[in-house]
Order: sequence, then C-alpha cells, then structure tokens
Amino acid sequence: MSPDLRPSIVVLGTGFAAFSFVKKIDVKLFDVTIVSPRNHFLFTPLLPSTTVGTVEFRSIIEPIRVARSEVRYIQAYSRSADLQRKAIVCEGTADAQQFKLSYEYLVIAVGSKSNTYGIPGVEQHTLPLKELADARAIRQRIIECFENAASPSVSDDERRRLLHFVVVGGGPTGVEFAAEMNDFLVDDLRKVYPGLLAFVQITVLEGAHQLLGTFDETLQDYTRRMFLRQRIDVRTDSLVVRVEKEKIILQDGSAVPFGLAVWTTGIGPREFVQQLTIAKDRIGRIITNEMFQAKDSYDVYALGDCGTVEGKNYPATAQVAQQEGAYLAKALKQRVLGKSVQPFRYKHYGMLAYIGGERALADLESFKGKGFSTWLFWRSAYLTRLVSVKNKVLVLFDWFKTFVFGRDISRF
Ligand SMILES: Cc1cc2nc3c(=O)[nH]c(=O)nc-3n(C[C@H](O)[C@H](O)[C@H](O)COP(=O)(O)OP(=O)(O)OC[C@H]3O[C@@H](n4cnc5c(N)ncnc54)[C@H](O)[C@@H]3O)c2cc1C
Repeated sequence: MSPDLRPSIVVLGTGFAAFSFVKKIDVKLFDVTIVSPRNHFLFTPLLPSTTVGTVEFRSIIEPIRVARSEVRYIQAYSRSADLQRKAIVCEGTADAQQFKLSYEYLVIAVGSKSNTYGIPGVEQHTLPLKELADARAIRQRIIECFENAASPSVSDDERRRLLHFVVVGGGPTGVEFAAEMNDFLVDDLRKVYPGLLAFVQITVLEGAHQLLGTFDETLQDYTRRMFLRQRIDVRTDSLVVRVEKEKIILQDGSAVPFGLAVWTTGIGPREFVQQLTIAKDRIGRIITNEMFQAKDSYDVYALGDCGTVEGKNYPATAQVAQQEGAYLAKALKQRVLGKSVQPFRYKHYGMLAYIGGERALADLESFKGKGFSTWLFWRSAYLTRLVSVKNKVLVLFDWFKTFVFGRDISRF
C-alpha cells in the first residue's frame, strides 16, 4: 500500500463549527481525524424543546460517522497538546486510556461549558442545559417533582417547593426553557395533575435589568408582557450568591425554594482550552486572526465558542460557529494549493427565540417580528437549518405528535 501523503488534520469536537468544517473539507486533499467525546452533532436551538418532550432527543442529533463516512472518528476527550511537537494527548471515553495523535493542522472546536462563576452550590444543586444528557435529566426531574408532589404524605409547603421551577439566566436559553415548561404545564400537566395546578410556579431570575439583553428593546418588553400573561414570574436585578439543596439565596438575602433549578447564565472555557499555553482573551477564549489561526501557532486553528477573532466581537452562536467551520474548510484547501486566502467575513442573519404559547421573536436587521406568525417563521427557519432530511422528518413528526397527542409524561 502506498503511504498516505495527504496532510493530516485533527479536529477536536463534533459541534456546529467542527461539523460544518468536516462536512466541507476536501478529503482527497486531507487525512482527517475527529476527536470528540460525543459521536454525534447536536442541534442546540431545539434543545429546550426536548426538556419537555415537544421534540424527542434523537430527532435533533446526527451521528458523525453517518454525516461524513470518509473521515476517521475517535470517541475521546482531548486532554492536552504539545504545540511545538504537533501532538495531542487524548483520553478514550470508554477505557480512560490515554493516547497521542500527531497532526499537521489542528482545528480546535471544543465549544464552551456552562459558567457557574464560582458561585457555591451551582454545580451540585442546579442542572445546566448544554447537552442532551442535561435535557434528559431536566425532563426526568420535572416528572419526578410532579409525582412526588402528588403524594398524599407531602405538606402543602413542600408541594409548593417541589413545583417551583426556577430558571437562572434570562438569555435566550433560559427564556426558551421557561416558555417550553409553561407550554408543558398549560397543554399537558394541567390535565393529568389538575389538583396540583394551584401549587405550580415558574420563575426566571436574571441579574441584569432586562430579559434577552441581546434583543431589541421592543421585543424584550413584549416578552416580559407575554410572560406576565402566562404567569411566569420574571425577577430582574436578582443576583444569585449561593445555591443550597432546596433553595437559592439572592444578594438581598432572600431565599427562593425550588424543586428544579436550571442554570443558563453564560458560558466559560472548557478544561482543555484552559490548560493550553496559547494566547487567550480575558474570558479564556483562544485569540486568532481573521483566518482563525492562533497567535504564534499558525497551524493551530480555533473555531466557534472556544475562539475569538482579534478586533471582532462575534457572538457565541451556532450561526457564527457554522460559518467559521465552512470558511476554514475552504481556506485550508486554498492554503495547501498555494492560493491566496481571503479573511473571514461574518454574515449576520438575525436572532430568533421562542417565548411560549405559539409566539416567537425575530430580531433581524430589516425586521423585528413577534407573535404567532413569527412562531411559524421560527419553526420553518429551524426546520430548514436542521442538518439532515432524517432530522427534518423526525422534528416535523414530533411537532405533529405533540399537537395531536400531547407530550409524554412517563418517567423511566
Ligand atoms: C440550549 C441552547 C440553545 C441554543 N440556541 C441557539 C440558537 O437558537 N441560535 C444560535 O445561533 N445559537 C444557539 N446556541 C448556541 C450554540 O449552540 C453555540 O454557540 C454553538 O453550539 C457553538 O458551536 P461550537 O462548535 O463552538 O461548540 P459546540 O456546538 O458546543 O460543540 C463543541 C464540541 O466539542 C466537544 N468537546 C467538548 N470537550 C472536548 C474535548 N476535551 N475534546 C474534544 N471534543 C470536545 C463537544 O462534545 C462538542 O461536540 C444555543 C446553545 C444552547 C446550549
């Protein structure tokens, strides 16, 4: 067999940036290996919908081996890198055995993790919403709270605590989770637990003065009005200082008892990025140029949430990560073919968010939409952005199933 003369690329991650890179990379020119603990791509914009069963878990994932069979995939974490020797140390998820991989080009696209800001008790007593496993844990906990609260041995105070669903963080993820939770309550739980309805409360705690800080002000006000109408309690200027097993302590000293607390306040760097000896910004993202090359390490590229382009302030969103991945696949090809590489140009398509009761927001440059028609637009936009025909069919089917039969409340 003749030796493989193609330059090797090691890609870390199977998220938005890595997935769009891998889908577009020319495998005739490059020998590509993907390392990620997750063997599938996850469409996070619909993750809040899976926490209550509007959409099923498997409908929004796509196995990486199916998406691009010509590349090698290894289920492992990248643990450290020797950038001088161009080698990376990985750890298999199954056996925790470490192994080394060499590369000519390294693409770091490991994303970010939920940021607890070092607040005591957050990791132990709240649930994040970043991965499918988080969504599954939230779904289990919601049903568990209702079943426990239905027990005749439980006092009314305890019932009220168990049925208090608190979201910390009023950004798009927190708002969408609160909205989905309220839909679940209004459409399904109310029918199966009629005696518990009076005890249920959904609360959003936000440290800043408004919800959805990145959206237009009229849309922020509209969301607040709609949440008020849906009886979702919005408490802005509420800073969490500590979380205990069954209550959240705010800066003003008050306690907020909860049955489930979901933590969606922001993102921070993953351990792999934290330990890299490479130039990073104030919040731990790898600093790159407009071609995504890390400072002083031109064969190392950083994409998506784990990187930042010097002088630009791209938001940590799927659309940024996706465009960066697609750009880099093309740029690397140009580079090895000896052609000139143009810097990346980001195209902003606007922001969408679901706010419950078949209403959504669209913050586009040319148009600020809200309400039912925007919800139809939101659904069709996400349907088109799902990455495979299988995902599109499954999500459509889930929406139909939820509309006709409601959401499933089984716990197993
Ligand atoms: C609930 C939720 C809803 C969202 N909704 C929207 C939305 O509506 N619109 C929008 O634009 N953005 C949305 N986002 C943000 C968007 O998901 C992120 O900005 C985007 O996923 C970033 O892409 P990425 O490729 O950088 O990271 P990710 O997509 O997070 O992928 C990171 C990958 O790295 C892997 N990884 C982790 N550690 C390691 C390691 N040590 N070694 C190797 N691999 C590793 C992970 O398993 C994963 O495959 C949402 C995010 C969440 C959590």
